[in-house]
Amino acid sequence: MRVEILSCGHCIQVEAFSKGNGSPRKVSFPSSVVLIDHPRHGVILFDSGYTDAFIEETRHFPERLYALTTPVTIANDTSAKSQLLRRGIAPEDVRHVVISHFHADHIAGLRDFPLAKFPFSDDAYLPFKKWSRLRQVSQGYLRGLLPDDFGDRSVTYDFSLPLRSINLDYFEQAHFLLGEESLALIPLSGHATGHIGLLVRESGNSAFFVGDACWHRDNFIRNSPPMRLAVSWLGDYQQYHSTLTSLKYLRYAHPEIQIIPCHCSDSHQSFIWQDTSTPTPNVIPTSPIQYQVEGRQPSL
Ligand SMILES: [Zn+2]
Repeated sequence: MRVEILSCGHCIQVEAFSKGNGSPRKVSFPSSVVLIDHPRHGVILFDSGYTDAFIEETRHFPERLYALTTPVTIANDTSAKSQLLRRGIAPEDVRHVVISHFHADHIAGLRDFPLAKFPFSDDAYLPFKKWSRLRQVSQGYLRGLLPDDFGDRSVTYDFSLPLRSINLDYFEQAHFLLGEESLALIPLSGHATGHIGLLVRESGNSAFFVGDACWHRDNFIRNSPPMRLAVSWLGDYQQYHSTLTSLKYLRYAHPEIQIIPCHCSDSHQSFIWQDTSTPTPNVIPTSPIQYQVEGRQPSL
């Protein structure tokens, strides 16, 4: 299996916004996409990063408010699609794009992958459907970013059901993406409703991609959480801190697991993955039956 972190655009924010020990200066927050080239299931992405679609969607109000409060920089060649093409991976080769949650910086690239299925937690999307357009924007969601056939391509996971044991301190249960124990979808509540992370493990390699469960590794390494207002505005402060505490203990109990927040460039730069891929075809089409292992087709 091959795993890479792609930096797909970035926004500018005050550093102290994301961590208590941050300075008042403005810094760059990359939006990352995790590329997994799986020996049996082909190309899988975790989140989809910024693309030009974000610029298009924020040209007019109320969506313009998002771009004004969170200035975004996107170069032509930094989209996940462009970076995959440079690696010889066509957009049609991407079979799954796991959605950690529905904030715009995580879903802006979904339209670039016409054949991909979209696994996500079944309570991550439904709240947005009930809200006004203005409230959606205020909570970081831009509905025009979803592909027209999003409902048909969605595969939802119910995390209120008994899950599979992963025997991992502080995160003991998960759904297995495509039935693969090496790809564990783990609930990480607090930042946004239905927020999930992806734990990828195989012999000699392990990484826990935690999305926005924290914004910088200092949040759990140095006990330096983000600004309370920033957390409370988007999610549940108590749940967020409970998740952050679990990440802190996980790091002590399992130092071999790399904990990688979506927007932490320090974590991205130190990320190590030993490529264990064998010279087999990159993409093996996945039959619909495999989706039924744990995920299900929702009625959206
Ligand atoms: Zn978010």
